[in-house]
Amino acid sequence: MVKYSIIVPAYNEEKSLRLFYDAVTPLFKGLQEEYEIIFINDGSRDATREILRGLADLDYRVKVCNFSRNFGQQAALLCGLEHAQGQAIIAMDADLQDPPEVALQMIEKWKEGFDVVHGKRRKRKGETIFKKGTAFLFYRLMRKITGLDMPRDTGDFKLYDRKVVDAILSMGEHDRLLRAQTTWVGFKQTSIEFDRPERIAGETHYTLKKMIKLAQSGVFPNTDYTLTFPLKLGILLGVLSVACMITFIVLACCNVEFGGLVAWLFPTMGGLSAVILCCQGLANMHMSMIYREVQNRPKYIVAETFNMEK
Ligand code: UDP
Ligand code: MG
Repeated sequence: MVKYSIIVPAYNEEKSLRLFYDAVTPLFKGLQEEYEIIFINDGSRDATREILRGLADLDYRVKVCNFSRNFGQQAALLCGLEHAQGQAIIAMDADLQDPPEVALQMIEKWKEGFDVVHGKRRKRKGETIFKKGTAFLFYRLMRKITGLDMPRDTGDFKLYDRKVVDAILSMGEHDRLLRAQTTWVGFKQTSIEFDRPERIAGETHYTLKKMIKLAQSGVFPNTDYTLTFPLKLGILLGVLSVACMITFIVLACCNVEFGGLVAWLFPTMGGLSAVILCCQGLANMHMSMIYREVQNRPKYIVAETFNMEK
C-alpha cells in the first residue's frame, strides 16, 4: 500500500526535473515505506514530457499525467490529488524551491497527528520586490475579504492527510484556489517555517496575468462581498441623502438661504442612486445564493467517527 504520495505540477521544467528526482528519491527511500511521485505535466512545450517518460521507465514509483494543454498549477494540483493513493499527500514545486528535507519534517508532524502541515516561507530568495509585495498584500487582503483564516505566507507546499484530500475533492467548484479550500475544510492544521531558496533552474511562470487569475479563484468562490457591496453602498448613500434632505427642509422652514434649487438636486439624486444600488444589491444577494447552490460544496465535513459503521 502506498503510504506517501508526492504530487508535482510541472510546466516547462526540463532543467529541474532530474535534479528534483535525484534530491527527493534518496530521502523518501530512507523512510522505508512505499511512496509514489506523481508528476503532472501541465502542457509543457519543452522536453518535460520526454524527461518524465525517462524517469517513469527508470522507476515504477514515478507516475505521470500529461495535460493536453496548459491548464495552470491549480488544475495540475487537483489532478495530483485525484490520482494520489497515499495516506499522506505532499504537494511540491518541481523547481526545488520547496526543500525536500522540509517534506520529511512535515511527515513527522503528520505522525504526531496533524492533518495539514503548511510550509510557511520565512525568507524568499531570488524573488523581486514586486513578487514579494504582491504576495504580502494578497494574503492579508484575502483574509480580510473572505474571512478565511489562511495561514500567512504559505503557498501550495503542504502535506495533506488522506481525509483532508477526500474532503477537498468533495468540493464541486471549477475555479479553485487549493490553499483557500484547505483552510475551508478545517481539520487539525499546523505550519513549518522554512527559508525559500531560489529556483534550481529556469524562471518563474507566474506572470501578472496568472497572479490575477489566481487571486480571482481565491476571492470569488469564498466571499459574496463583491456582490453585497452595492447594497451596503446604497444604504449608506440613502441614509446620507435622507439626512441631507431633512437638513434642507429644516433650513427652508427657518428661512435660511442655501444654494437655491440646485442644492436640492444632491439629496434627490443621492436618494435615487441609493434606490438603484439597493435593488442591484438585493438581486446580487440572490445571485450569491444561487452561486452557493451551483458550487455544491458539502454542507459539512465529518472529521472522524467513533463506533459508527460507514
Ligand atoms: N506550474 C504549472 N503550471 C503553470 C505554472 C506553473 O504546473 O501554469 C508549476 C511549475 O512548474 C512549478 C510550480 O507550478 O512546479 C510553481 O510555479 P513557479 O515556480 O513558476 O511559481 P513561483 O515559485 O515563482 O511562485
Ligand atoms: Mg517556483
